[in-house]
Amino acid sequence: MADSENMDYLGKRILVTAGPTVEDIDPVRFISNRSTGKMGVAMANAAARRGAEVLLIHGPLPAPPTLEEGIEAIQTRNASEMYSAAMTRISGIDCAILAAAVCDFTPVSTALHKIKKEDRSNFVVELKRTPDILAAIGALEDKPFLVGFAAESENVSENALRKMKRKNCDMICANQIGQQDSGFASENNEITIFKRSGEFIKTGRARKCEIANLILDEISRCFV
Ligand code: C5P
Repeated sequence: MADSENMDYLGKRILVTAGPTVEDIDPVRFISNRSTGKMGVAMANAAARRGAEVLLIHGPLPAPPTLEEGIEAIQTRNASEMYSAAMTRISGIDCAILAAAVCDFTPVSTALHKIKKEDRSNFVVELKRTPDILAAIGALEDKPFLVGFAAESENVSENALRKMKRKNCDMICANQIGQQDSGFASENNEITIFKRSGEFIKTGRARKCEIANLILDEISRCFV
């Protein structure tokens, strides 16, 4: 239910990506990552509670997400599907928040039948790069306010700032991988929000729904 005291996103159209992507090797094996989509789902719910019209494009999640009424959700499987869904629906979006952990590589081809292990001592899967949704939206002439996420295991600020520039985002939310009870699969997160101006805000550790509202507060200072 929306909070009538804080409807600062009323009339805004927000696109959120969430969760991992799954890149199939054959009908039983795949490449993916540890994302559970909790941060992206929290972003979508928080934006909807603040009045936004939300489109959530997500990869396969461990359980169906509990979503605020009115959120339109599109389930995708792999990076290519998520890219197509996002690019087809980007027109008219005011702000895109890309929290999905999109796989960077996908098999060059997916085998139709299960690959048999017999007669093999080694098995090489050739991978190719996936389309970068954040960079593609950042390159649009009429791009929305663009927020990226960066999970880094070292040199968090340098990598996040470089990413913001390279992908032409307006804001990047960075977190250090490997912190206890924070990040992947956790109910909590701890991030630094970097803005294009060079200003940054450290959130401290908090529940993902609270972090989502802090991010929305910062976005609203820039564009709402
Ligand atoms: O380069 P890196 O994957 O660390 O960048 C992370 C940011 O880029 C996240 O916001 C993620 O959602 C986005 N991304 C994307 N498409 C990709 C790879 C990353 O949208 N193929």
